[in-house]
Amino acid sequence: MNLILLGAPGAGKGTQAEAICKEYHIPAISTGNILREAIKNGDELGLKAKSYMDSGKLVPDEVVIGILKERLKSDDCKEGFVLDGFPRTLPQAEALDKMKINIDKVVEINVPDEVILERLSGRRVCEKCGATYHIQNKKPKVEGVCDFCKEKLVRRKDDNVETIKDRLKVFHDQTEPLKEYYLAQNKLCVVTEYGSVESSRKATLDAIRGNI
Ligand code: AMP
Repeated sequence: MNLILLGAPGAGKGTQAEAICKEYHIPAISTGNILREAIKNGDELGLKAKSYMDSGKLVPDEVVIGILKERLKSDDCKEGFVLDGFPRTLPQAEALDKMKINIDKVVEINVPDEVILERLSGRRVCEKCGATYHIQNKKPKVEGVCDFCKEKLVRRKDDNVETIKDRLKVFHDQTEPLKEYYLAQNKLCVVTEYGSVESSRKATLDAIRGNI
């Protein structure tokens, strides 16, 4: 099963992608995570991407399309995959189609901007394992320390209020039009449940099974 999760930054795509991985035993592919890893390792790719990411802009299409093409060649994608954060522009969606990869379903996780702003401005992430927390809604056991690997929690550079607003604008301008694109292909389903992690997980899995 080949799936795409569409939604604004902070809509919970990463969390839902994890749930889908467990349910269907397919890898979750996050272009954002691949880029952050490249930055951490000081790779050339990371150097190219860093300034775009820090300012909330999209990394150029040809760069992310190249990353995804390589990633999809891996053996673990043979039985399917779930894309989290790709495609984000029309040329990226068209590039996927040109790769002759059949996408079974596109799930849009629809969360209001004000909820996103609250979520991302309070988000903290583990520098080492990537686990995410929230200063109010999902506190770690010890303040500022990851429950799993005991590393320091940090605020992502692009999680400050101004950059979050820029990222939301980029989403509405460049990524939202993809809804029409996949609606026309009869692949889009929309999840509007965002109350709790569990309820949105259930709604997402229901949408994939075709129950909503
Ligand atoms: P994310 O972790 O998915 O929110 O991505 C973080 C940042 O990585 C984005 O704000 C972009 O700068 C960059 N990025 C990730 N995926 C893409 C993509 N498909 N196209 C362009 N830029 C991307």
